[in-house]
Amino acid sequence: MTKKAVHKFLCTKCGYIYDPRQGSGSAAPNTAFEYIPEDWACPECKADQTEFKKKYEVVEIEG
Ligand SMILES: [Zn+2]
Repeated sequence: MTKKAVHKFLCTKCGYIYDPRQGSGSAAPNTAFEYIPEDWACPECKADQTEFKKKYEVVEIEG
């Protein structure tokens, strides 16, 4: 098991977490937050990207 820090982004309005590995809506899986479409908004509360805050999370990767 290897530990790796991933960047997730937290919606400060509703607590939704954008996980770049999963993507969301018009953001395809493995799309870094910096590269998601400009018109993308929080799928839960429609807050725009400026409401999101970077959040680090340490995960275990197999292999
Ligand atoms: Zn939200």
